[in-house]
Amino acid sequence: MRAPAAYTFLASFACGYQTPQFSSTMPMWTCNVQSCKRPAVRTSGDCIICNGHLCAERLRPTVHHCPGWQEADLYDPAAHKAEQEELAKLFEKINTSALAARASSLQNGIPCSIPSFHYDRETQFSVMGGMNYHVNFDLQMELAGCEVATLDFLEQTHVTAPKVFDFALEGDSDPVGVGYILMEKMPGISLNQCRYSEDQMKKVISQLADIYIELHRFPFDHLGSLDQPGRSHIGPFAREILTDLADSKMQAIGPCSSLEEYHVASIRLILDLILREELYTQQAAQTQDHHQTFYLKHADDKGDHILVDKDFNITGIIDWEWAHTISEAVAFKSPMLFLPVLEEKGYPHMAEYVRKGRVQHQFAFSCGYDIADWDGFLGLFRGLRDTVGVDNGLNWTDWKVAALDRYRNDMELQLLLSRAEQNCYT
Ligand SMILES: [Zn+2]
Ligand SMILES: [Zn+2]
Repeated sequence: MRAPAAYTFLASFACGYQTPQFSSTMPMWTCNVQSCKRPAVRTSGDCIICNGHLCAERLRPTVHHCPGWQEADLYDPAAHKAEQEELAKLFEKINTSALAARASSLQNGIPCSIPSFHYDRETQFSVMGGMNYHVNFDLQMELAGCEVATLDFLEQTHVTAPKVFDFALEGDSDPVGVGYILMEKMPGISLNQCRYSEDQMKKVISQLADIYIELHRFPFDHLGSLDQPGRSHIGPFAREILTDLADSKMQAIGPCSSLEEYHVASIRLILDLILREELYTQQAAQTQDHHQTFYLKHADDKGDHILVDKDFNITGIIDWEWAHTISEAVAFKSPMLFLPVLEEKGYPHMAEYVRKGRVQHQFAFSCGYDIADWDGFLGLFRGLRDTVGVDNGLNWTDWKVAALDRYRNDMELQLLLSRAEQNCYT
């Protein structure tokens, strides 16, 4: 009975607020099992192996038999094969001579050649970064536009990121046949492919801290994604979790002018998605931060977006497509390793965000990406309540009893509970 739990937890943050702008909504995806018209679950319902968008019912382990990523022996080869097929389909659509002609015209007629595209697992990440073939088409277009706008904005900063030479969005009736961004290839290799000593790591951290300090020089007055190349303009969030489909059109949250507006809108949407069986959990954070300026945050925490040379100089930061503005406390929370570095560099208030980052981390992960790791979720959720002093000291069972009682008049919660009783959920 996990959905009601996630719902109850979230409701405690959105309590008292009405559903915002969205009307006559549709699911982002419909279950693609024949004749099933139920909404597909976002993210965890995407199966790259059977190329499925699966509803809550079809996602049950007794019904869906594709291996999960935990079963690496089975999952990895199947996932690679699916990836190869997906990319082969994409490569077929690319008109390479049109692309070469476009590149050549940008270089005042200097002939350009485009090597033939082929799938190579070994080099794929060095040339392609992460991919998003399971993202809704319209959202893909928005993401591409935001990436261009973000890279464009970064040109006025000292952050080293690829320069954009040209781009076209799919459907622009471009002869290339697919949407593309022609951008500078940055030297270096991905940090997470390197083995490094403690000193080398310190060197990277120090440079990353400089990047934070640089981004801190550019406050924005709204939360959202950069959306207009050439202008530092913040539009709605280009993130699947913050997007709804209404009347067949994408409607994303934002731009928001306050953190409260952002939290309320995002949590309310997520509650709706839980009710509509598109989502079981949520991701935004609740803070006591009253600063009303916002900063650009790269969405990646894993390190594969950081390119370094053999001496561990950062040569560039790539993959900006999911970047968005957010409050200072979230934008600059980072590993504890940053703390002494930011203090040394004379930015004690930024170091403070690192020091307080734990609560942000607990919030983001306790109700964040997926609650598949149930025990981990319980620990983080307990930690979060203890840290913020709300329902602190209660174990899960006692908290649930109290929460179910507190929200007993919430019709939506009652609906979910009755569904759970009918065994709709595992
Ligand atoms: Zn599958
Ligand atoms: Zn279905």
